[in-house]
Parts: sequence; C-alpha cells; structure tokens
Amino acid sequence: MNSNQPYETLDPEDWEKMRALAHQMVNDAIDYLESVSDRPVWQRVPTEIAQTFHAALPEKPSDPSEIYQEFLTNIFPYPMGNIHPRFWAWYMGNGTVMGALADLMASTMNSNMGGGNHSAAMVETQVTNWMKQVVEFPDDSSGLLVSGGSMANLVGITVARNVVAGFDVRKHGVQAIDKKLTVYASTEVHSSNQKAVELLGLGHDCFRKIGVCDDYTINLEQLNNAITEDTRLGCQPICVIASSGTVNTGAIDDLNRIADICSQHNIWFHVDGAIGATAMLSETVKPYLSGIERADSIAMDLHKWMHIPFEAGCVLVRDAKAHRDTFSLVPEYLEPATRGIASGPYWFSEYGLQLSRSFRALKIWMTIKEHGTEKLGRMISRNVEQAQYLGTLIEKSVHLQLIAPIGLDIVCYRYNPGAMEQEGLNKLNREILVELQEQGIAAPSYTTLNGVYCIRVAIANHRSRFEDFDVLAAETIRIGQSITN
Ligand SMILES: *Cc1c(COP(=O)(O)O)cnc(C)c1O
Repeated sequence: MNSNQPYETLDPEDWEKMRALAHQMVNDAIDYLESVSDRPVWQRVPTEIAQTFHAALPEKPSDPSEIYQEFLTNIFPYPMGNIHPRFWAWYMGNGTVMGALADLMASTMNSNMGGGNHSAAMVETQVTNWMKQVVEFPDDSSGLLVSGGSMANLVGITVARNVVAGFDVRKHGVQAIDKKLTVYASTEVHSSNQKAVELLGLGHDCFRKIGVCDDYTINLEQLNNAITEDTRLGCQPICVIASSGTVNTGAIDDLNRIADICSQHNIWFHVDGAIGATAMLSETVKPYLSGIERADSIAMDLHKWMHIPFEAGCVLVRDAKAHRDTFSLVPEYLEPATRGIASGPYWFSEYGLQLSRSFRALKIWMTIKEHGTEKLGRMISRNVEQAQYLGTLIEKSVHLQLIAPIGLDIVCYRYNPGAMEQEGLNKLNREILVELQEQGIAAPSYTTLNGVYCIRVAIANHRSRFEDFDVLAAETIRIGQSITN
C-alpha cells in the first residue's frame, strides 16, 4: 500500500469541486423548469446523439464535470415531455420542483425502506396514513408505497386471491385450485390488472371483462349476471376491480353499486384508482367517487394527478392482517427487535414484494406540505374544467368532433372535414397526432373507441393554461387542412 495515496473510496477526491458542481446542477434544474414552456413539448433525439449511448462500459474514471457536460448536451434537452404545459399523453403528472429536490435529499440519506427504526420509515408511515385520510379509509387499514398503479393493483389483487380463494394459497399455490377463481372488471379496465391476474396464476380466461354502458362505465346488470352464472357453473368469484377513472375516457364505475354487489356475493372489492383516487381532493370530483371508502383495497397513483415525480404509487388494504398475511415472511436475519435499528413497528417488506426500497415517501411528504391538499385539489378541479373547455372548443368547430363523453379530464376527439370514410379518417388523425408531437406543439396520445381512432387528451397537468387548449384546437385544424389540401 502506498501511504502517499489518499485512501480510496467512492467519495469525491475534491469535495469543494463537487460542491460547486452540485450548485451548478441545482441552478440548471431550476432554470430548466422555470423556462419549460418556452421549449417544444418534445423533440426527437438526433441520430448522432442516440449513437453515443452505444459507447462501451467505462472501466476508468471520468471527471464529474465532464460527465455532467455530457448529460447537459445529450440527455437533458430530450425529455419525454410530461413536464411541459401542453403534454396530455397517456396519463402522467408533471412532477413538482420540491419533489425533485426531495429526491436529491432522499438519495443523500439513502435509507433503506424495508423497515426499521429511523426517521424515513416514520415519514412513509405518515404519508400512507395521509392517503388513508384522502380516501376515507379506516386508521387501522394498511398502506404501502409502491412503484405505481400497476404494482398497487398487483398487491391488492394478490391479497384478494389469498383471502377469498378458500384454501391456503401460500402453502399449496394455485395448483390446489379445484374451483376456477374468477375476477371481474369492465372491458375498459387498465391492462395492469390483467397482468396481475396472469401473474397470480389465474389465467386471463378467468378474467371476465364485462361490457360497458354508453358512458363507458361497467354494466352492473351484466356484472351481476356474470357472477351469478359463474357461481352456478362451479367457479369461485373472488374479486371485482372497479375503475375510478378509466384510462380511455376517465369513466368512473358506480362504486357504491359495485360495493353492494361484492358484499352480496362475498367478493373482494378492489378499486383501481390510479387516475381517480387522488381526485378525492377535488370538491368537484369527490361526489362521483362516493363508495370508494367501501373498498377492500385501493390502488392510488400519486405520480399522476398529484404530480409527485415518478415513481409514486400507493396501495391501501382495509384488512391490515390479511395484507400482512399475504406478504410477510420473516427469516431469522430480519427478526424484529425491541431496541436498536431493527425495532421499527412496521416493516414495509412484510406488506409487499420488495425488501430493499427507496425513500420515495420524502418527495410526497415535501410536496404535500408545500402546497397542502386544498391546492392540490384545485389543480385537479381546474383540469376537469379545462377538459370541458376543450369540449366546447371542439363542439363549436365544424371540423372537430367529440368521440366520447368527457370523463373527468379526458377528451377524445378527431379532425373530421366531412365526406371521408372511417379508414381514411383514422389514417388522417394518426398523421395529425404525430405532426402535433413532431412539430413540438402539443403531446396528446390516442386511442380507438368502437373502431374510431381518436386523439386523446388527458389533462393531468398543473402547468396547462386555458390558452393551451385554444392552441391545440387551432393547430389540429391547421395540420388537418394542410394534410388534406
Ligand atoms: C396508469 C394506470 C395504471 C398503471 O399505473 P402505473 O403507475 O403506470 O404503473 C393502472 N390503472 C389505471 C387506470 C391507470 O391509469
């Protein structure tokens, strides 16, 4: 060992240089977000830059400021776009500045959220307790922060299966099924639920997709009949998944009626609230969510309408014991203690699949404290108003056509100059959409409803202004006309 060399660690060799770089990064981050509306919503990564990502695995060190320069030129200018006021694709939030800064501090502490006795674990417990309050769940229910809605649905449906199956699923596995276990949701249900059903070994043949009404909510009569018929045929219905805010059109299933059906048939009531559950904070939306508090489990997505930076999902389960019984497996090296670091009261690893977990609670905690739930709710209400505003722009224009009733903040429309066949219209609107994106004007996405391709605008965006929708309507028409002329 050469005693003239500093002792080798992964810490900076020059703390002052690293401090200066850190200040630069924070300055750049703030500038970037402050000026986001001046830039195109999206731009393609140039080929020369895309090629840089094929460079070989680095074996030797590089200077941090050079690495950061590379980030500034090759990565930072080409985001997905969901930080922009005219991004309305799929269903995403914008993020918050405080949330981004919180992520820096969370990584700085680098606490492992498997459990234990430390401040970060207390923050997560507090955040999940706050979420119970948002959806009016009992204090003694359980909660867990997860990556997002997909994982929250998986956790909820797993508990449902284990509780309702009628045998010890953890011991015998689905091999022991003598009755087919069936799960119910509407045809509009999010794909993550089907993935969960498949992953749980139930098979999607046993995932009954029930038809919807004209407003895209689940047809309750068909749901009730399907459950009755399956039971008569010797299946065992275990779970109904209600959508509170479908991804296509923002439709909210009748949660109270579904709760009634579930209790009548003794079935688990899971709510996929990835879109709608946080809208309990909005005075205008809350009445439509009546019945959510009766669920057995709820999937929430805080990185959508609550704008927490990715990833931030939350699952709540009414019966905390059932939740723990589904996931708890405590080997000797994880046995809880009464004193010391291991003495935390609530081991998150006993409520989900992950053992090591990140401190995602901090960005939620800081964002909620910064703004308060009333303001977060107002952002949601305003998006609902903006959807209605866009709806009136579409109805006023002879060139634009609304394709589905506006649910919450989701508007499905198309450009229709008249005298064109369905196929031609579908092709035309596909082209309009990519032009809107490639010209950096706006980023809606798309869906197909009853064979009609439509431009889909999902407004989970605290930065959108009403004028942004004037731009969208006018530019859709301009691009449509330039293609057809
Ligand atoms: C987005 C979404 C999901 C999946 O959530 P992720 O956070 O993307 O995993 C599930 N259900 C609905 C209704 C959604 O909109």
